[in-house]
Amino acid sequence: MTETHVEHTTTLSTPPCDECGGATRIYGIEPHPRLLHTDINTYVCDTCDTCDTNQVLVVPLARKRG
Ligand SMILES: [Zn+2]
Repeated sequence: MTETHVEHTTTLSTPPCDECGGATRIYGIEPHPRLLHTDINTYVCDTCDTCDTNQVLVVPLARKRG
């Protein structure tokens, strides 16, 4: 059985809606089709249902040496 260990976690924050300033939630995350280590996050507004996307750099975790 493979054991895993969570060493560091990051809380994802979402940007406010561009249209109404309301709270947004993540609707989807997909890898960028051309840029390495980059995801495309899609957000949807809880108030007006406007969708927006951001490109997010994903930093690979450093491997432990040992
Ligand atoms: Zn909105």
